[in-house]
Amino acid sequence: MVLFSGGVGGSRLAAGLYDLLGEALVVIVNTADDEVIYGLHVSPDIDTVIYALSGIGDWERGWGIKGDTFRCNEMIGVLGFENWFKIGDSDMAVNLMRNKMLAEGFSLTEATEVISRRLGLRCRVLPMTDYRVVSVVVTDEGPMTFQEYFVKRRTEPRVIDVRWERSPSEHPAPGVVEALRSAETMVFAPSNPILSIHPILETRGVIEEIRLSEAVKVAVSPIVGGKAIRGPADKLLEAYGYEKGVLGVAEFFDGLIEGLVIDRIDSDQAHSLKSRFGIEVLVTDTIMTSREVAKRLAGEVIEFAEQIRRARN
Ligand code: GDP
Ligand code: CA
Repeated sequence: MVLFSGGVGGSRLAAGLYDLLGEALVVIVNTADDEVIYGLHVSPDIDTVIYALSGIGDWERGWGIKGDTFRCNEMIGVLGFENWFKIGDSDMAVNLMRNKMLAEGFSLTEATEVISRRLGLRCRVLPMTDYRVVSVVVTDEGPMTFQEYFVKRRTEPRVIDVRWERSPSEHPAPGVVEALRSAETMVFAPSNPILSIHPILETRGVIEEIRLSEAVKVAVSPIVGGKAIRGPADKLLEAYGYEKGVLGVAEFFDGLIEGLVIDRIDSDQAHSLKSRFGIEVLVTDTIMTSREVAKRLAGEVIEFAEQIRRARN
């Protein structure tokens, strides 16, 4: 199975799927939030996924390592540098070793593989690409990176547009196309559609591979009761002219998915989703408050995809 994932929402479902599927899971992760911070290449979504799968992540907070301290971050402040981007001390060790490997000529895919393996992961976590892709959030206060918009400015500026700076030679990371070609099921995690899923889909050739694939394709809605559980996914979908709520999610994935998983709170939308988009709908509890809950949801997602597969024949 291939899971397309961003950070917090993606990593939670990834952990649930990993508990059921182990090495049969391949997670393709957004890297358009990667940035140079404190002189280091940080890959927030990759780290969030690796930490969640390996069990060292802070589930509640949705980023960083459980119980981490922030002395390094504090010292950066003492030295008079901006330190609004919080990286815990253990998290910093991961970032330092990633950068050591990158400086020695490893690709991001290779560095990710080493870190995953050393943290005991049996499944593959693949960056969408090894090339530079950056989401630029264009706001009424000017363009900014996602971290500036989200962490520094706390989503206060009004979003006018999002654009992407992509390296002209950008192509998917090694292993991505192979994973897509051999997948029997593709799941779009409940990640931010505009900032986490769109950059993956726009990586050269990826959407074509997904369209060509006969895999069963389903998505889990990141929008619950008209709102994102965390972050600006709702605001961004609306800024892009998508409808409010789960209908906007279905509109975003229109033509790409056969099934959408929505929360019980949105059950009144199930009928219009089916009739307007011609998709199957699974209504269940989708808020992953713990790894156990994520595993239960993951099991339902797998069963939902199997039902769709059986109904094809
Ligand atoms: P980011 O890279 O950290 O912004 O994370 P993602 O793009 O992976 O996920 C952000 C989205 O995850 C937000 O829109 C949240 O609504 C959604 N999300 C977070 N936790 C959950 C959850 O437990 N269930 C569902 N359905 N969505 C979630
Ligand atoms: Ca992210």
